[in-house]
Amino acid sequence: MIKEVLLKNSQDIKKRVKSLLSGIGEVSKVVLEGQYVVVYTKDPGVFIRRNEVVVELAKTIRKKIIIQAKKPLLDEEEARRKILEIIPSNAEISNMVFKKETGEVYIIAKRTGYVVGKKGANINKILEVTGWRPVIMRAPSIRSTFFETLQSILIDQASTRSKKFRKAAARIYRPSLQISDEITATFLGGAKEVGRSSILIRTGKSSILLDAGIAVGGGDFFPRFDSPDFNLGEIDAIIITHAHLDHSGSVPLLLKHGYDGLIYTTSPTRDLTALLLHDYINVAMRNGIIPFFSKVDVTNFITQVFTLEYGETVDISPDVKLTLYNAGHILGSAMVYLNIDENRHTILYTGDFRYRGSRLLDAAEDSIPRVDTIIMESTYGGEQDVFPPLEEAEERLISIITKTLRDGGKVLIPALSVGRSTEVMLALIDALENKKIPDVPIFIDGMISDSNAIHTAYPVYLSKEIRDKIFEEDANPFLEPHITPVKGPSDREEIVSGGPSIIIA
Ligand SMILES: [Zn+2]
Repeated sequence: MIKEVLLKNSQDIKKRVKSLLSGIGEVSKVVLEGQYVVVYTKDPGVFIRRNEVVVELAKTIRKKIIIQAKKPLLDEEEARRKILEIIPSNAEISNMVFKKETGEVYIIAKRTGYVVGKKGANINKILEVTGWRPVIMRAPSIRSTFFETLQSILIDQASTRSKKFRKAAARIYRPSLQISDEITATFLGGAKEVGRSSILIRTGKSSILLDAGIAVGGGDFFPRFDSPDFNLGEIDAIIITHAHLDHSGSVPLLLKHGYDGLIYTTSPTRDLTALLLHDYINVAMRNGIIPFFSKVDVTNFITQVFTLEYGETVDISPDVKLTLYNAGHILGSAMVYLNIDENRHTILYTGDFRYRGSRLLDAAEDSIPRVDTIIMESTYGGEQDVFPPLEEAEERLISIITKTLRDGGKVLIPALSVGRSTEVMLALIDALENKKIPDVPIFIDGMISDSNAIHTAYPVYLSKEIRDKIFEEDANPFLEPHITPVKGPSDREEIVSGGPSIIIA
């Protein structure tokens, strides 16, 4: 039976917010951007001073409310001066960019905690005094041209992103037809094979795509997007669990074929995916192959991502709510939790996950609400796939390295994937500090240095131990003096003809 259900729509939400907040101060306009409710007002200060009312309303409507000045109160020059007065100098601001189109000021700083201030005191003050809405970005402890380019794309494309988010909101809160009560999962790839992970979930009201990978290790390259169940025009949301290309590599193809909805993932996954896609293009070109997407598609990817923090719940279609949980696999990796139709059915899709903490990351989240269906990654899940404990594996690595170096050799450690290379690097730093291996330089080659920079830009996603070290800066393992990034071919020649060393590439 076909029935029309008008659960909620964008007009209702906007009207409700406007009428409730008008009691506090002037509300010029209410706009939905993706999941967020943006309230435009002539006087943002009134709402900041009555913040508890705004917070209460946000809780009742279960949405983030953003207060924004209708027009900036100060011009850029004055605002810049005021902001530098408000933020203490130990925040180490490296750049400040004003975006007239969106009324935002992007503040890039080394120590973002000082920019934000206690309970957001500084950012509230900036909005109240200047009328510009601050967006804070962290400058990584290691310089990376790639990361700087990525941040400038995000800033340059601010108004494009806001337009895309508004369009997406209209789609999320649309009146919808329930064409069936069935919930189905179609495995477009990654089942009975390793690579090209992609699962289509259909609820009768909406279609959600979980991961869109490629098969990096051979076999059929793309997921079965030719399946009769799959219709790109019907996809409400793409969710990416983590950056490895066997889970994310097909996304540019879908963008090229016209997908203009949102891609949900964490900030580190957005950045690491962009890094891996760039690298994919470079490697293909070096081998004389024309890649199936270009850098323009990577830029489109960056602007279409709506980032979520672990544990944050958002509506992604008329009947589906999404929450991401830490998967403990690589930086920013997430398990996907879908709540369909207010608890009618819940699905947990693990993606690649690990329930054993590592040097770099905390173990996957084990406190998850009710789950009706689990879709679980099972690579390395076979009877024969028993790995030694981490300590044992590290000891073996250390003994091989020590023997090789003592014999006058060099150690080359091929660590292909983002994540593993950094784990190996941390293990070696620890071995050096504890004098378990000879005192030799460690070179890192390829994109490991950029990947490391991304790691330092998101310390909250790292294990508690590493996070504490980074915040204290003096003990930041990513700045360890033994670690030297390889800059180019001449560096490589020098390393090859030089003394004993360890190379991670
Ligand atoms: Zn993976």
